[in-house]
Amino acid sequence: MSRVLCANCQRPQKACICSFIANIANELHVVVLQHPTEVSQTKGTIALLAKSLNSCQVFVGEDFSEDDCFLQVMKHYQPILLYPGEHARTLTASGMSQLDELSQRFEAQEGKVRRTCLVVLDGTWKKAYRMYKLSKNLQQLPQVCLPDYLANSGQYHIRKVAKKNALSSLEASCYALALLEEGSSSFDITPENAGKYQPLLNKFQKFNQFQLSFRPDY
Ligand SMILES: [Zn+2]
Repeated sequence: MSRVLCANCQRPQKACICSFIANIANELHVVVLQHPTEVSQTKGTIALLAKSLNSCQVFVGEDFSEDDCFLQVMKHYQPILLYPGEHARTLTASGMSQLDELSQRFEAQEGKVRRTCLVVLDGTWKKAYRMYKLSKNLQQLPQVCLPDYLANSGQYHIRKVAKKNALSSLEASCYALALLEEGSSSFDITPENAGKYQPLLNKFQKFNQFQLSFRPDY
């Protein structure tokens, strides 16, 4: 029996995510690097993010050192990596000035002016670490991470989370974008107020409830 797929999200009608999609004009281009095993694991979370942001690309792989698509991104943008590595700079409410600083540092190295883009790794901590270790080009990028009050605010109920500091990639991307794009405006970014990204976070909460309803034990 063939399953009828939604023409927009390409998912079975019963699991269609279209009612959870927000329409957000993000200023910073977003590139999600998705671990191959996450494609079936994330239950449409990255699809929801990609369909909600007006400027977003998703590449699947583990080692991006030689990945043509990602190398093109590296050429056309100034990527900054959202990753809580040793040298990551914690984003604060005055996000934009930090972004300028990061960009300038990168420009000085490269001698070119390019639009900044945010690179997000989608995978468990272990898998993200592996992607980072394998992809030497990722290690060269300026790194940013979320402040604790946001990093620990996740509402991701579907998968078991090993660590306290474990947001979904969708939430992490929204908070990072909010801090980087709107951090210097008149309000503070909080888990309840992520500026123009809040509608997507609200829909994501409903999306999680929707996903839970598919569980036999729910
Ligand atoms: Zn759909």
